[in-house]
Amino acid sequence: MKNNKYNIAIVGFGGMGTQHSIQLSLVEEAVVKGTFDLKEDRQKASQDSGFIAYENYETLLGDGDIDIVLIATPNNTHKELAIKALKAGKNVICEKPVTLNSAELCEILEVSQKTGKLFVVHQNRRWDEDFLTIKKIYDEKLIGEVFHIESRIHGSRGIPGDWRRLKESGGGMMLDWGVHLLDRLLLLVEGKIKTVYCRLSFQSGKDVDDGFILQLEFENGKTVLVDVGTCNYISLPKWYVCGDKGTAVIEDWEMNGRMTVLVDESSADVNPVIAGAGFTKTMALRMDGSVEERPLPRVKADEKDFYRNVFAAVRGETEQIVKNDQVMRVMKLVDAAFKSHETNSVVSFE
Ligand code: NAD
Repeated sequence: MKNNKYNIAIVGFGGMGTQHSIQLSLVEEAVVKGTFDLKEDRQKASQDSGFIAYENYETLLGDGDIDIVLIATPNNTHKELAIKALKAGKNVICEKPVTLNSAELCEILEVSQKTGKLFVVHQNRRWDEDFLTIKKIYDEKLIGEVFHIESRIHGSRGIPGDWRRLKESGGGMMLDWGVHLLDRLLLLVEGKIKTVYCRLSFQSGKDVDDGFILQLEFENGKTVLVDVGTCNYISLPKWYVCGDKGTAVIEDWEMNGRMTVLVDESSADVNPVIAGAGFTKTMALRMDGSVEERPLPRVKADEKDFYRNVFAAVRGETEQIVKNDQVMRVMKLVDAAFKSHETNSVVSFE
């Protein structure tokens, strides 16, 4: 640390490495000193941005000025790079998915414990407005007691044609978007998970999953459906949350959505209504003023608080927000999801 600023070196200066350098330039306590990337053009891009382009990873780790190594390389490389950095006496920020499975994460955490250096995973989607808004609705019971949650991300472009398509690189949507959505859901729903059932989809090839549908049942009876798809030309809402006094929907990134809340509990009986080729009483719409539409209680946050928290945790002033036991639980859930798919069975969990 120099002049009260943390010197950071980024390994992997591609899409996310570049994004980190931009975000970090907006955080007072941070200085990106240098980067290392295997690709020549990314080394040049680093120099063009005014950073040192270290000749190799060993030179980066040998720079005594560097306090924190930030790993933004393809998923299969995280474990080895993290262990080397921790052993070199560096604190480490690692991109998600932390590793390809929970066993690999165990190996990193052992080294982190031995060296006493901080290891933290960039689970940035905890700072997303849609998640924070659903968390407020859930915690404050704005639609009553929530009993079912659907969390989705849909696109129609398949998996990008890079390492994300390759099994050996740790590609696939479970490890890509899955870990984000699961991380958030486990912060939302309290208690133990009883069962996991998952079907991966392979619309665009056989090597890695291009989406999945995963169902969780918690010991307290709450149910969760996680749906990631890359062949969805019409997207379903990102969130669909059912409580015993209402329902909440968030449609898209623009935060279109609403809550419909029960305001009159005196359930006057209704007459059957015509619906399609028949009639129904059960599914009759509420035209009697017993429900009210309310806007979403939007909650915004600054995603740069992730870095600020890491710096405070390095100083020993606070706990890291993204805790390693939380990340481990998500990776164990990912292991269980893959097992469920392979065996086409419901897997017991926790
Ligand atoms: P990318 O392909 O754009 O960049 C990766 C870079 O790493 C490439 O330039 C490549 O040359 C370099 N590289 C590969 N192996 C290396 C090694 N051993 N040493 C040094 N450099 C190496 O990929 P990306 O989209 O930036 O993804 C990188 C990581 O960031 C992945 O783990 C991904 O899951 C994660 N990511 C996270 C988010 C998020 O929101 N948290 C978003 C995108 C990507």
